[in-house]
Amino acid sequence: MKLIFEISKPGRSAANVTASDVPAISIEEAIDKKYLRSDLDLPEVAEIDLVRHYTNLSRRNFGVDLGFYPLGSCTMKYNPKVNENIAATPGFIGLHPYAPDEFAQGNLQLIYEMQKYLSDIFGMAEFTLQPAAGAHGELTGMMMIKKCFEVKGEKRHLVLIPDAAHGTNPASGALCGFDTVTLRSNSDGGVDIEHLKSLMTEDVAALMLTNPNTLGLFERNIEQVAQIIHGKGGLLYGDGANANAFLGKTRPGDLGFDVIQLNLHKTFSTPHGGGGPGSGPVGVSAKLVDYLPVPRIIKNGQDYNWSDNFPHSIGRVRAFYGNFNVVVKAYAYIRSLGSEGLTRVSEMAVLNANYIKEKLKPYFDLPYDRVCMHECVFSGKRQVAEAGVHTTDIAKRLIDFGYHPPTIYFPLIVPEAIMIEPTETESKETLDTFCEAMIAIAREAKENPQRVKDAPLSTPVSRLDEVLAARKPDVVWKKTG
Ligand SMILES: *Cc1c(COP(=O)(O)O)cnc(C)c1O
Repeated sequence: MKLIFEISKPGRSAANVTASDVPAISIEEAIDKKYLRSDLDLPEVAEIDLVRHYTNLSRRNFGVDLGFYPLGSCTMKYNPKVNENIAATPGFIGLHPYAPDEFAQGNLQLIYEMQKYLSDIFGMAEFTLQPAAGAHGELTGMMMIKKCFEVKGEKRHLVLIPDAAHGTNPASGALCGFDTVTLRSNSDGGVDIEHLKSLMTEDVAALMLTNPNTLGLFERNIEQVAQIIHGKGGLLYGDGANANAFLGKTRPGDLGFDVIQLNLHKTFSTPHGGGGPGSGPVGVSAKLVDYLPVPRIIKNGQDYNWSDNFPHSIGRVRAFYGNFNVVVKAYAYIRSLGSEGLTRVSEMAVLNANYIKEKLKPYFDLPYDRVCMHECVFSGKRQVAEAGVHTTDIAKRLIDFGYHPPTIYFPLIVPEAIMIEPTETESKETLDTFCEAMIAIAREAKENPQRVKDAPLSTPVSRLDEVLAARKPDVVWKKTG
């Protein structure tokens, strides 16, 4: 496919502008007067060329609306279009963020109610909707923990992070100025309780626990973990990015979590990936309410108002009120599903992941063979041993079968990891055909390993040097001839 610059023809244009009644000046004169720039090599194409160019480009992309996208830990599920329609209501998208509270009552009410819904669903005292994504929520949560100990005059500089945590957890802890210490997993894929006991001192501010963890496993000893942390005055942070695993079944607040961040763009149905807007609300237990970001919304009688009057607040973490439109989509999703529907979300997410786990178990190594939550993690070890076919090769071959590859080489504690998250929105037929493709690839890896190693075979380009592409991206168009 050509670049748009290569189909450019001087003088061609996608728009016809009606004659102007202001005095005309020549392009040369406009450039001379610096109204126009002459140093930009902009393409000149007709409207139809433009439409075809971008439509063709878009068809080389992959998204949930095109096919199964089992990217582990990312919850690439189908998002009902009705949520988009609701979020596009003029009153939601047209309101100026500086509009006075009295002109924004409906939107403020939505934010207030959303905070209440989330507090109720997750058993937390209070929520903030300001953070723009999951990792931003983690940072916000850790900032509150830091502030809490500062106010109490306690010097705690350590944060414990299990080796099965999401990679953003240590990053958020470190960015907040904590030293991070790795906590081992046991053979069951859960927290190694003895190791936790030995690490837990009064220097430890918090344990950051991804639950379910990146093995897709729920922490079986969560209440004991909470006791150990709280026993030494520490706080329990929960990464709840994968809340579709337990919605309606359990509440982090009831399990002893003091902070939890959510990813509305995963669990609560907003298209994401490709850098689209996210939302990472953070819920806190009563211990941390004073430190929530400002402004916070206050309800006085029937009125909703923003208030900055919280002296212990960590301050703002984002301009205005977060990604409001994502919140509207999540609100619409919660209201349309209700508590019964939300419970069914987690039941289906867990059922689907276990279905895939059981179907593929005979063909791929399964290092933690127990009931999983929303995702299952295989290892490509067997394929490496048998034919030198690596997990990357299997992932690339899946592209030829029309699937987005699962997450690979993560979590780090599983060699040659293949992490599959089917999500609750896929049918049994889709899961079956995906499993058939995986099984076909396992067979091919034995019978014709070179074919798998050469994959993808059906794409415009095959294997790319991904390191080179990331380190030295060649994105500047150079005019030739
Ligand atoms: C996706 C994810 C994150 C990061 O969320 P972003 O919105 O990408 O910042 C953090 N933790 C877990 C467990 C995740 O799955």
